[in-house]
Amino acid sequence: MAEGFSFFQKVNTDFDKAAQFTDYPHGLLEQIKICNSSCHFTFPIKRDDGTIQTIHGWRAEHSHHSLPTKGGIRYSTLVNEDEIMALAALMTYKCAIVDVPFGGAKGGIQLDRREYSESELERITRRYTYELIQKNYIGPGIDVPAPDFGTSETEMTWILDTYITMAPDKLNAMACVTGKPIEQNGIHGRKGATGRGVVFGLEEACSITEDMKPLGLSPGLHGKSVVIQGFGNVGYHAAKFLMEGDARVIGILEQNGGIYNPQGFDVEKVAMHRAEAGSICGYPGAKLIENPNDGLELECDILVPAALENQLTAKNAPRIKAAIVAEAANGPTTPAADEILQERGIMIIPDTYLNAGGVTVSYFEWLRNLSHVQLGRLGKRFEDTTQHAMLRAVEKATGYEFSDDERQLIHGADEEDLVNSGLQDAMIRAYQELRETRMQHRSKNDDVDCRTAAFINAIHRIAKSYMQLGIFP
Ligand code: NAD
Repeated sequence: MAEGFSFFQKVNTDFDKAAQFTDYPHGLLEQIKICNSSCHFTFPIKRDDGTIQTIHGWRAEHSHHSLPTKGGIRYSTLVNEDEIMALAALMTYKCAIVDVPFGGAKGGIQLDRREYSESELERITRRYTYELIQKNYIGPGIDVPAPDFGTSETEMTWILDTYITMAPDKLNAMACVTGKPIEQNGIHGRKGATGRGVVFGLEEACSITEDMKPLGLSPGLHGKSVVIQGFGNVGYHAAKFLMEGDARVIGILEQNGGIYNPQGFDVEKVAMHRAEAGSICGYPGAKLIENPNDGLELECDILVPAALENQLTAKNAPRIKAAIVAEAANGPTTPAADEILQERGIMIIPDTYLNAGGVTVSYFEWLRNLSHVQLGRLGKRFEDTTQHAMLRAVEKATGYEFSDDERQLIHGADEEDLVNSGLQDAMIRAYQELRETRMQHRSKNDDVDCRTAAFINAIHRIAKSYMQLGIFP
């Protein structure tokens, strides 16, 4: 509970705010908003020291309007039913915003992974998967998990192996989970997809001169100063791609402290330092921020919360100095903080849109698993050959000889090229739709912020699905 709202209540408040701008029947809006099913289960595990511990796990399927349902699995001490239902709901809206044909789901286990050995985590993950199978909460056409806070490719491999062992139909069983390693039928580009999507979204938002002007910013990412909270999967990749996009990552905040350097960090070097030293703190040439929460209040152009929910609150929102809050994490801004930031003219790019890159590429992975063919496999060689034939024709016609470097620019698209291009397209299109909705409402004198516009678009798309199902006329 943060500032009088549970996480799920916060999501529903955002939904209600957007629903006022639509004219769907109350019953349809209720059906879209409600969590269709959720399940809490407990099971015992034997720890390495021989003691028995009860583990609490959840899976919520927020919306069955489109199947399978889709959403990550989180390992954190904060996991509870309300959080999982809220995150599942966000997944429903997120998929609709980027036009990915899944309902939303989420799962989680209440634990701090740092307190468990690798083999304990494997036993827990396999037993959790077994519970999902028993309760019909997993399957390529039913519900498809993915990584989230506290989980990675490794857990996805254990889930896959457990599912395949028990699956009656093995043909499509690979599609029971996404975020798998490449060797286990994962897809190139999935690991960094959420962070890359965050950067595609920011690039698009920052490219619009008239939106940057009131923030006192020039268009483009070039030279913009960025502070990132959370240097995990999403935070690390967002920081890396922002740096590659010519932004300056001046602050990185982790659980045990943050680092600051106004010149900007080489993100790869910080990651290497953490791999060797076990922490980002102590990175050479950086100023240490002892309390990482203080780092949220640093002077910067873009603040990227990429850790957990409820990080920007009524308490710190008046002191946030960023011009843009880019919600890479789910639910990082409380409703009270949202109001304060909006009043202060800070632009919030909402989670439902900005972190949708993960599920977008998970969709590509799921399609690849069902089609049993690697993306680009059929066309790559053909494209290669025709493009090089074209080069030779140009050389012949002009007498100009292309250099080896120029030749290397020409190649048929491989899987990662296609994944990144599909991701970029999804992020650009969704942002344009979101902005279009804002503009339409502005012309009617309705002040609709980005979060509300994103929810309005999600509601329209889900309502359309229900109508196609013939449930509502
Ligand atoms: P992760 O476990 O890989 O990384 C989270 C990082 O945040 C860790 O390094 C952790 O130490 C750090 N952290 C935790 N509390 C912190 C605090 N108070 N201050 C600073 N750092 C803190 O998790 P992730 O997959 O990167 O997920 C991060 C957020 O992004 C979550 O809200 C998640 O739901 C959301 N998200 C993840 C994905 C995905 O594909 N992994 C997709 C969409 C949204």
